[in-house]
Amino acid sequence: MMKPVIPYYGSMTDCKEVPITFPPQHQDRQPGLEYLMNPQPIFDNPNYIGTGKLTGKIAIITGGDSGIGRAAAVAFAKEGADLVLVYLNENQDAKTVQDAVQKIGRRCLLLPIDLRERNAGEQIVTRTLETYGHINILINNAGVQFPQPSLEAITDQQLETTFNVNIESFFRLSRAVVPHLHSGDSIVNTTSVQANIGSSQLIDYASTKGAIVSFTRALAHNLADKGIRVNAVAPGPIWTPLQPASWSADVVKTLGADTPMKRAGQPYELAPVYVLLASDDGSYITGQTIHVNGGQTMAS
Ligand code: NAD
Ligand code: MG
Repeated sequence: MMKPVIPYYGSMTDCKEVPITFPPQHQDRQPGLEYLMNPQPIFDNPNYIGTGKLTGKIAIITGGDSGIGRAAAVAFAKEGADLVLVYLNENQDAKTVQDAVQKIGRRCLLLPIDLRERNAGEQIVTRTLETYGHINILINNAGVQFPQPSLEAITDQQLETTFNVNIESFFRLSRAVVPHLHSGDSIVNTTSVQANIGSSQLIDYASTKGAIVSFTRALAHNLADKGIRVNAVAPGPIWTPLQPASWSADVVKTLGADTPMKRAGQPYELAPVYVLLASDDGSYITGQTIHVNGGQTMAS
């Protein structure tokens, strides 16, 4: 069998390999905590040099404390954006991102807010405008997943939580933010390869991720005349706190091994796609879903 190509990041003198297997680990809470993970997810690529693509922009990122949202936050800061990071309660993880963003020289407002609350969107918009005066980019990225062996095992409570966090909050926060966006501004929603695959144990989660794809298309149509673009990113298996927090210790060991690239992705490998869609580089892209999944799906 061909040995998988292992990419690396870092300078020639500080070269790091991307892990292809993981020590077994499980966290008994969701959202999971990034600082407890081993190895630590790679959220920053030192070879990624910002070129001012988001200078002067204000970006709200939900789930920005960890995982994919954290990597997007750091790349956005390198491109000159100031940030608002929304998360449930992972204060230590959020502080790590805030430190990284401030080290780059950008501002970073931390907002621990439960997105299940009906007025979370209004709270986030008010705090953002008080702090920065305007909003340009919304990254709807918060998500939860609770694998279950059967349809009958999915309780009403789980169904409500999954739909509330994964899609209803996207809808409500977008509704609160859109009146403040202008031509050239952008929304990016994190969906999942699950919208296409529909894994047996993720019936409710996959349903919400399919809804995000359709929400993205409809909102893109609706906002096109205003010059506001709406797109989605569909990650495959990525090494983030969502993994040990939702799967058994045994499952995480080989995360991503079933992809054509035979490994999980690292959060930093998603960040340039969020920059593309949020910046003028993506000026003719709207209503689209970009797949970053090691080849797990080849058509959609
Ligand atoms: P993560 O745990 O780092 O991020 C999820 C975030 O959601 C958490 O940081 C948490 O703060 C936030 N969140 C959850 N419930 C919340 C609530 N009630 N209120 C406010 N915030 C809440 O994991 P991640 O993998 O980076 O997840 C980011 C997105 O990527 C999610 O939408 C997830 O479904 C999606 N995704 C992840 C993968 C993967 O393999 N990791 C694959 C496909 C899609
Ligand atoms: Mg988190």
